[in-house]
Amino acid sequence: MSVISPARPTNHTADYNQLGPTHQAHFDSFMEHADNAANTTEYNSAMAAAALAAGIPLPASGEIAKCACPFCGCGAIFDTAIPGLLTVEDSDGYNLPRLQCPDCADAHPAPAED
Ligand SMILES: [Zn+2]
Ligand SMILES: [Zn+2]
Repeated sequence: MSVISPARPTNHTADYNQLGPTHQAHFDSFMEHADNAANTTEYNSAMAAAALAAGIPLPASGEIAKCACPFCGCGAIFDTAIPGLLTVEDSDGYNLPRLQCPDCADAHPAPAED
């Protein structure tokens, strides 16, 4: 944490449950596009659009996810590169990882598959 950029907020997360229905629909649709993207270009542009719909900047990792917690209605949308995430299930056949946000991973972690 030695480099601090004052122009950027430190919190790049959003709450899906706080988005309006239009933004939720856009977000869902773009995330689905990303999930089904045939190539990296499609994936990246779908991710960028999803971040825009969620009202957060696309993180340096180029990838965001909505909390896939099976236990609560958590709607956290976050950079998939942040620490403390837990993989809920392997994403065979999908582009998107199924991840719990750090709060959920801490409070009620999904059982590990292996
Ligand atoms: Zn969560
Ligand atoms: Zn949860």
